[in-house]
Parts: sequence; C-alpha cells; structure tokens
Amino acid sequence: MYSWSYTFVPNNLRNMKVLKFGGTSVGSVKNMENVKNIINDGSKKIVVLSAMSGTTNTLVAIAKNVLEKEPNEAVDKINKLHEHYFVTIDELLKDVELNVKTKAYASEIFNFLLNSTYKDYSQELENKILAQGELLSTFMFNTYLNQEGISAALLPALDFMRINSAKDPDLFYIKEKFKTVIDAAPEANIYITQGFICLDEKGAVSNLQRGGSDYTATIIGAVIKAEEVQIWTDIDGMHNNDPRYVEKTHPISNLSFDEAAELAYFGAKILHPQTVLPVREDGIPVRLKNTMAPEALGTLISAETSENGIKAIAAKDNITAIKIKSGRMLQAHGFLKKVFEVFETYETSIDMITTSEVAVSLTIDDDRNLDKIVSDLEEFATIEVDKSQTIICLVGHSIVNHESTFKLFKILQDVKIRMISYGGSRNNISLLINSNDKLTTLNKLNDYLFELVTL
Ligand code: ASP
Ligand code: MG
Repeated sequence: MYSWSYTFVPNNLRNMKVLKFGGTSVGSVKNMENVKNIINDGSKKIVVLSAMSGTTNTLVAIAKNVLEKEPNEAVDKINKLHEHYFVTIDELLKDVELNVKTKAYASEIFNFLLNSTYKDYSQELENKILAQGELLSTFMFNTYLNQEGISAALLPALDFMRINSAKDPDLFYIKEKFKTVIDAAPEANIYITQGFICLDEKGAVSNLQRGGSDYTATIIGAVIKAEEVQIWTDIDGMHNNDPRYVEKTHPISNLSFDEAAELAYFGAKILHPQTVLPVREDGIPVRLKNTMAPEALGTLISAETSENGIKAIAAKDNITAIKIKSGRMLQAHGFLKKVFEVFETYETSIDMITTSEVAVSLTIDDDRNLDKIVSDLEEFATIEVDKSQTIICLVGHSIVNHESTFKLFKILQDVKIRMISYGGSRNNISLLINSNDKLTTLNKLNDYLFELVTL
C-alpha cells in the first residue's frame, strides 16, 4: 500500500492553495469572470479546471457515435461545439492576437475530433476525445488571465498526472513530474491545469473517471502539501439531503473526512467518490464553495469530528441486490468465502451486505458481469436478483450510538426497506429501497430527522 503522506516537498510548492472550478464555473464568460475575481487576490495558487459544462457529455456522445459508426451524427455535434466555442472565445478575448491564437488552438482540437469520426473506435481514441474539454477550457482561461494582465501559466496535466495499472494515482511519478513541470513554467502567480485527464500506466491518455477534476485537485493538494484544497461548484456546499428531490435542505458547515467519504461514495453528486482519500492522511482541509455566491460559507471537510446525530442523507441509484440462499449455509463455515470468491473473480465490489442463517443479501453497483456472477453462484445456491434499487445512506459521526437515531426507524411505516446495514461503521447507516420509493423516502427521512416532526 502506498502512502499519501510525504516528507519532502520543495519550498516553492509548500503552503499554496489548490482551487478547483467545475464545469458551470467555467461554463460562461460571466462565470469565468467570477472565477477570475475569486482567484486574483495576489497569492500564489494552483487552479484546476473542468471542461465547460456540457462539453464532456457531448464528447462522450461523440465517442459513442464513433463506436456505432455514425460519423454524420458525430460531425453534427462537433460543428455545434465548434460554433459554441468560437462565440465564447469572441466574447472572452477581445485582444485580437490572443483571440486568433486561441481560435487556432481550438481549431486544432476540432480538426482532431473531425478526423476521429472516420477512425475505428478504440478505448484509447475515446479517452483522447474525452480529454479535449479540459484542454480547451484551460487554454481559454489561461489566455483570458493573460489578457487581463494577471500573471498565469499553464501546467499540462498530461506531463505529470498518471495512474497505475490498479487505476490509482502513481504518486511517485506525479510528485517527481509535478516538480519538473512547475520548475519549467514561467514564474507565475496562478498555475492553471486540467482536471480529470491523466496518462495510464502505459503512457496513453486516460482519465480519473467522470467528475474526476475534484480528484485531480486533492491529488495535487497531497503532492504539494497544500494549505487547503477548495472545490468550487454551483451550490453552496454539501447539503444535508439531495436538493434535487427534497425541498428544505441546507448546507452542512462541517464534515469529517470519514463523513465526506461516505457521502461522496454513496451518491452525493457534488464530490467525486475518491476526493478526500489523498488529503485525509495529512489532514489537508477540503472546502466546498459556490462560485456564484463566494461569500457563502460552504462546507469545510477536515479531520475534526462533532457528534450531533445524523447530519446528511444521500442516495445512490442503479443498485442491484442479489439474494443468495442455501440450505448448506446452515451452521456451515466457509460459505461467505465461496460467495466472495465469485465477486472477486469478476472484480466486482460489494457495497452493502446483510446475512441471516440461511441467506445472504448483498448489493453491487457495477452489474457488467451480473450474468456470470449469478451463474457461478447458482452452482451452490438459489439466487434472486432485484434491479433498480437505491441505497439511502445516512451519515454522521457515531450515529449508531446517537440518542436521536431512533427517529430513523419511523420510516419503516412509510416505505418497504429491502435491506438495512447498521453498525458496519459508526458513521453510516444504509437502507436499500426500491428506486420508485426514493422520493418518498428522502422526503420522509428529511421530515423525521431534520424537520423535527413530532413523533
Ligand atoms: N469534465 C469531466 C466530467 O464532466 C471532469 C469533471 O468535470 O470533473 O466528468
Ligand atoms: Mg463534479
């Protein structure tokens, strides 16, 4: 196991902040201006950018067209994207020279995309297509800062960010290369780099999965032992419930690394699931902030813990539940081992698990190998599969012992709970429900746990 913790960090890199801005934050000229105002306070910092909002989705769709041999559809999307970028560049860059330079750069990218539409699909080609959004946004934004007389330099993420064969960041490589890249960059106050994109162990273009710019920011934060990592989005921090489904939610001011990790993994869309991993060992705080309302406090994720009951609820969809029943399980040992071996074979991770004396129920979210898993399990057990399930995750420090947690169980009279996991960690309680019941469950839980409905 590698460690995120380092002893040596060059002085010129220490104590900087890393600020990551998401797709909406760089999604329009108006918002880019907000970002400029936020970062332009004279202090040296690293700025990680996502692609402009909507771009990565379009690139994913273009790659799908390539796979399905639909070049006309792909070309249509590329032309629209091209037009959109040129309009944005005209609005952003009034300086003629910088405008022309940026359009030339963007044209190269659009030509690459157009050429891709006639190529045979490969994962490598798809990864290259997906990488173009961050290359575009960072180039445009860096040029914009130069136009505004702000001292900025671009650090190409593909020159230092790399994952190994287990898809974990190759820390040794990243640290060495980051130092080289920054040493080679012109002296600047603001270093801009691409989120999301990286090289794989063979040196081919890859990425840190959708939403991966958050992860880029904390990986860099860990490497330079940043004073703080800030994740700037379009919402004022992590909310206590999903604002897309529940009306009365509010931002949580403080979360511990553990709480944030559980929430990010179990569905809080605001953070990439691995975001806190790189920084927790060094206790580097992660602050979630809103680009559209910079004065709002946001959420501070740190090593501090506070015990005040259930703090937040998140929901993760597209879960498959598998019930494994066997007469042979009765008083037999080694049964779970056999079950786990099947999942191990297909590299499928299990999220929730409950057992009784005659059956085990568990959930997975990656069902790519479901058929093979089921057929292997059927060799020694009876299997039932339920798709379209949702995990509702409740998080708070030591909630399994908290005096107010009993209110949770009031939910049993309103929805059918398929599984419950209590005590796996002291900070998490998970419920598995049918996805159709999600809206009711989130709202009822909100009432019972946060709105102080009298019980
Ligand atoms: N642009 C990438 C995505 O949309 C990465 C990110 O925004 O974090 O997934
Ligand atoms: Mg995101």
